[in-house]
Amino acid sequence: MRVAVFNGAGNPITIEDMEDDPLGPGEVRLEIGRCGVCGSDISFTSGTAFDYATGSRMGHESAGTVIEVGPDVAALKLGDRVSVLPRGYCGECTSCRMGRPLFCETGPAHMGGFGERMVITEQAGFRFPDSVSMAEGALVEPIACGRRAFRMGRLQKGDSVLIIGAGSMGLAAVYWARQLGAGRIVVATRTRARHEIALAMGADAAVVMSQDDPDALKRALPTPPDLVVEATGKVGMLQLAAGNVRTGGGVVSLGMCVHADPVIPAMNAFQEISMFFPVAYAPEDFEATIRAFDAGTIRPGAMVSETADLDRLPTLIEEMRGPSNHLKVQIVPQAG
Ligand SMILES: [Zn+2]
Ligand SMILES: [Zn+2]
Repeated sequence: MRVAVFNGAGNPITIEDMEDDPLGPGEVRLEIGRCGVCGSDISFTSGTAFDYATGSRMGHESAGTVIEVGPDVAALKLGDRVSVLPRGYCGECTSCRMGRPLFCETGPAHMGGFGERMVITEQAGFRFPDSVSMAEGALVEPIACGRRAFRMGRLQKGDSVLIIGAGSMGLAAVYWARQLGAGRIVVATRTRARHEIALAMGADAAVVMSQDDPDALKRALPTPPDLVVEATGKVGMLQLAAGNVRTGGGVVSLGMCVHADPVIPAMNAFQEISMFFPVAYAPEDFEATIRAFDAGTIRPGAMVSETADLDRLPTLIEEMRGPSNHLKVQIVPQAG
């Protein structure tokens, strides 16, 4: 089977031909239907301390169909379509019990979504119904991050929310702010390019934050919001976010900036601002995201700006290191 491999920063990502992995007890084999390219596929292959291990398989926003079932599998069967939590988890260690399966002490990594097939432990496969497309199945992973963000940021019904950035994380925040009953939801971006999709995902308004029109945000949000979500990952955004929240409000960092990003503690203290640094999701966020996709009228599939085959992935990732218009690109490993 073919799968994308990271060869260390500065070296091209390669598509390698490998033997299929053996199938053990409690495991299923998937044929991957779709796998989204994540901002972290760019930033975690860029030569910082956060890089993936050299030689590791890539792709963690995947969905696929069960094509083989190992011994002792109870919950999944042939033909099930599942979203993949990118780590098998034991459910019993301290991290698992705290709802942080990504840090499970014994679970195997389930990377390799940029590949034709993949073996996962059955509890890492979250079945989705026919009403959810394979494209949406592969959006469960990024969008579940938005739910975790607001659980950690303690969003209350009716809270007003400002979301800075309209990439995948910004749109995940928009989606879950709406699902969780937020009040006014405003998205601020550098350009108008993603305003339409931000509104389609549930925002009430979208504004361009620029020197030319410094009052644009105030017109959209006359009083400072209860929560500000930083979803760009750019240096300088954390303090900008803090500067726009109400006194006593919260800032949620969702952009996964891999560089130092200074904040001014006294400034934030004088407003008693809380800052939250969530990562990813718990199994319940995956389940809730699938339920929301199934029940909801907002179709997150609109976020997918492009599909590509496996062979295009290495050049695509290099393109995405620079300024680009790609929003959510999904790899279709069975194509091409
Ligand atoms: Zn991701
Ligand atoms: Zn565990």
